[in-house]
This record gives sequence, structure tokens and C-alpha cells, in this order.
Amino acid sequence: MPAQERPNFLWSLFTLKCPRCRRGPMFTDPNAWKLRRTLKMPERCPECSQPFELEVGFWYGTGYVSYGLSFFFSVATFLAWWVLVGLSTEDSRFFLWMGLNAFFLVVLQPWIMRLSRVVWLYCFVSYDPDYKQTNVREFDYKTDSYYRKGGEQGTDDPAK
Ligand SMILES: [Zn+2]
Repeated sequence: MPAQERPNFLWSLFTLKCPRCRRGPMFTDPNAWKLRRTLKMPERCPECSQPFELEVGFWYGTGYVSYGLSFFFSVATFLAWWVLVGLSTEDSRFFLWMGLNAFFLVVLQPWIMRLSRVVWLYCFVSYDPDYKQTNVREFDYKTDSYYRKGGEQGTDDPAK
């Protein structure tokens, strides 16, 4: 029997939770629209002490993620508009969609920026059901690689 229920992947992703424990919030302020605090994150997960900025410059990659998310969002609103409102060369419905889509992209930008960081970190850190027992993987600048405190084996799986 698992000690704790495994939180749903998409739920954790969209509620901006830590990838390792899927419980700790990744951002200090739950409100993404307080713009000066949008990207304020604790150094480590308050629940499992997973470091969030894995190495210096780690967040540079999120630019691509945010382009991708904005693109998929636009495709989704375009399809929804096509189905629900329709498109025609006779009127300006297409431009109305463009305007509305641009408006929503701007309004949602703080949340997209946050989600990009979350998606990016989820690419590198996997869920650990035993996060209370195991140590986090840390980046070591001396060896330029990741290691787990206390060794990769032993503390990882006590049954071995
Ligand atoms: Zn965590």
C-alpha cells in the first residue's frame, strides 16, 4: 500500500506544483498577476526540498517552452473559434479572432511564464513517491553533473 496517494500529473502541472513531490507550490505568491512577484520562487520546494533552479541559467530554456505554449494556445483558440463562430473571407471574423487571441495571450502571459518554468522543470525532475525518505539530486559545479547526497544507491531503495 502506498504511503500517500500519487497526485495526478496534469493536476500538479497546471496547479504549478513541484515535479518531485507534486505537492509543494513552485511559486511564492499564488497570484501570478502580482507582476513584481510573478517569477518569485522559493529556492527549494517547501515540501520535499527539491531545488528549483537546478543550475545557474537553468531558466533560459523556458523561452522556448513559452513560445510553444503560446503557439498551442493560439491553435486551440483558432480551432474553437472556427467551430463556434466560423470563419469567412466576407467579413472580419478572422481579425476579431486575432485581436481576442492577442488580448488573451497578453492577459495570460504571467501564468504562461510560470507554467513554462514548471513544464521545463518537469522535463528534468521526475516524481518520487518516496520523497520523504530519499535525498534530492543536486547539481555539483565541481564535477558538472548531478548527484544524490548519500550516494545513488543505499538511501535510494532500502529494500535492495
Ligand atoms: Zn517538492
